[in-house]
Amino acid sequence: MKLLKHYIKSFLFLELLKGMSVTGRYLFARKITVQYPEEKTPMSPRFRGLHAQRRYANGEERCIACKLCEAVCPALAITIDVTERDDGTRRTSRYDIDLFKCIYCGFCEEACPVDAIVETEIFEYHFENRGENIMTKDKLLAIGDKYEVQIAAAKAADAPYR
Ligand code: SF4
Ligand code: SF4
Repeated sequence: MKLLKHYIKSFLFLELLKGMSVTGRYLFARKITVQYPEEKTPMSPRFRGLHAQRRYANGEERCIACKLCEAVCPALAITIDVTERDDGTRRTSRYDIDLFKCIYCGFCEEACPVDAIVETEIFEYHFENRGENIMTKDKLLAIGDKYEVQIAAAKAADAPYR
């Protein structure tokens, strides 16, 4: 009996018709495909993307090498070496974030007493070579310089995250 049922089903192409009906239904349904990168889906205001290091308006880097971000990072993604200037102020001689370790929790940004390290909304980045996952101080400062206007505006608006 089971075999006969299977035979009739195959003979009448019932499975095929079932599949075609699903295709037909979606053919006329509202399209949900987003034509990225021309179109983008809405982003959560709490989204945390690529990091940046900020400077003050006079060009001086904000980071005072207090190491709070390094201490709070749950993924141990931040590595900081400190140097002391002639005037006694502390600055980082090395500030690396390993993006392969980072879990984008935002703790570093929250811990920073001088708003130096921030997470931007940038999510369109990729790595092509070994080692590019390490965001060095120079790379972080370059991102900060490029997006300072947007970062400052978000901070002024007291947005939860950039
Ligand atoms: S976002 Fe979180 S995991 Fe990433 S560097 Fe900052 S504290 Fe570490
Ligand atoms: S980024 Fe902020 S928290 Fe981290 S070392 Fe610099 S000043 Fe301290």
